[in-house]
Amino acid sequence: MHDTAASAQTKPAVLILLGPPGAGKGTQARMLEEDFGLVQLSTGDLLRAAVAAGTEAGKQAKAVMEAGQLVSDEIVLAILKDRMAEPDVARGIILDGFPRTAGQAAALDLLLAEAGQGVTAAISLEVDDEAMVGRVSGRYTCACGEGYHDTFKKPAVAGVCDKCGGTGFKRRADDNAETVRERLGAYHAQTAPLIAHYDGLGVLQRIDAMGAIADIRAGLAVIVGRVTA
Ligand code: AMP
Repeated sequence: MHDTAASAQTKPAVLILLGPPGAGKGTQARMLEEDFGLVQLSTGDLLRAAVAAGTEAGKQAKAVMEAGQLVSDEIVLAILKDRMAEPDVARGIILDGFPRTAGQAAALDLLLAEAGQGVTAAISLEVDDEAMVGRVSGRYTCACGEGYHDTFKKPAVAGVCDKCGGTGFKRRADDNAETVRERLGAYHAQTAPLIAHYDGLGVLQRIDAMGAIADIRAGLAVIVGRVTA
């Protein structure tokens, strides 16, 4: 099924996943990569890589991220533009965790307009806030990228990854209950208003994201198949 939807387009698809921390943006973005041959572009992942590499941007972002607040538009836009200059984005992209402010949305609109296109769809993953605290504070990942959860998804053999057999699990520094509440606050204050922005542009789609991961994946496949047809 790879590339079918993306290659039918004259312009590469630009999909945005909107939703609070824990809504499943990263999980579903990786599934859309598999299902449609698109490229996931997560500003959170790019920032964590910058922090790990000790770049100037990473040094400035570290404390802000650990406090659950938003990194400045300037830093985020710089790392996003660098990533968007790489050739694989021509396959079409799924923006995961970007844009998160009105300034970032305006900058993206401009960047796309310069390339003669717009956002294909902004998909809002709709969830209950309270459930997100439990979802995020118990999660951890294997070094291979497979995600787990203390309550909802334990590996079959404790401490061993089901997918790669590795034992190198890690938890994000900002995935604790206190920081998740801060991140939810930032989402509602700065990011949720973007839902109205994309509704105004006529590209908003909404999906109930409280159900099973496979059901949400199927629902998203229908939406993405339709908007990229
Ligand atoms: P995420 O992996 O999307 O949950 O992002 C983790 C953290 O990285 C956020 O809590 C922010 O501190 C920072 N971050 C990621 N994306 C953005 C963005 N688009 N704008 C500002 N800060 C961001």
